Amino acid sequence: MHVMLLQEAGRVLVPARVPQPRPGPGEVLLQVRACGICRTDLHVARGELANPKLPLVLGHEIVGTVVARGSEVEGFSEGERVGVPWLGWTCGSCAYCLSRRENLCDLARFTGYHRDGGYADYTVADARFCFRLPATYDDVHAAPLLCAGLIGHRSLRAAGDPARLGLYGFGAAAHLVAQIARHQGRRVFAFTREGDAEGQAFARGFGAVWAGASTEAPPEPLDAAIIFAPVGALVPAALQAVAKGGTVVCAGIHMSPIPAFAYDLLWGERSVRSVANLTRRDGEEFFRVARAVPLHVEVETLQLAEANQGLARLGAGLVRGAAVLVPTSGG
Ligand SMILES: [Zn+2]
Ligand SMILES: [Zn+2]
Repeated sequence: MHVMLLQEAGRVLVPARVPQPRPGPGEVLLQVRACGICRTDLHVARGELANPKLPLVLGHEIVGTVVARGSEVEGFSEGERVGVPWLGWTCGSCAYCLSRRENLCDLARFTGYHRDGGYADYTVADARFCFRLPATYDDVHAAPLLCAGLIGHRSLRAAGDPARLGLYGFGAAAHLVAQIARHQGRRVFAFTREGDAEGQAFARGFGAVWAGASTEAPPEPLDAAIIFAPVGALVPAALQAVAKGGTVVCAGIHMSPIPAFAYDLLWGERSVRSVANLTRRDGEEFFRVARAVPLHVEVETLQLAEANQGLARLGAGLVRGAAVLVPTSGG
């Protein structure tokens, strides 16, 4: 089968032919139909996250069809379409796993990081961590839901119940969160890189009542903000933008260092928190939302062999919405 392989952090992916994996106990073998490119892939490829499996197949927004099942697989049949998210395996017995916080499991293994992912024709996944996907989304449009959508949803929940929500970095996750937030009656304020008029217009197209540069103050104080961009300097900027009692949620897995800031910015019961990974319960909840709110998923489709271009475009801020890979032999 064809894969795009990360042989070493900091290097480009190389096309390779490798033997098709065999599903172990509890695993399904999937023919990949589409795989989203997430910012986390970029962090793994650049070596910004410690100890990836190497060589590695990136990709944790996988839509695939079950073509074979290992022993002990329950709930999925051959030919069925499933989604594979970032959370690939948990121990099931640590304090976190036993308290409905499997996203924090110390032994968790993540797709496209500790386990091979979906930049490939085929992949294997632990069936217990796969999701059924709403039929109203085709393969390419369902793929970004598996991380951008899911993590976006978890981040929005962590933001509390804000009437005025700021989104820093208006990419794959933010354009989905904006739609859910609007559906919930919230007003969305979008922050992009300075001078990104096109990105600001894109955000207004998804219902942002205001869009400007992340260096600008919003026209009114916010009740919460979610930071999707991996830029630590946005933390004090967002704290400055939220009213007393406001929450700033850092949604990314990696961020540049956060500059020191005056305690005044945190005072007034403002809080800063991160969101890490996902639980399977988040997935069930989110896909219920995605069924109820028809989300417009803006995608840019690339062939599997173009994975490096996709990652470069994402890194340069050129992707509008989400970039999705489709296997050349797929279909
Ligand atoms: Zn655990
Ligand atoms: Zn992701």
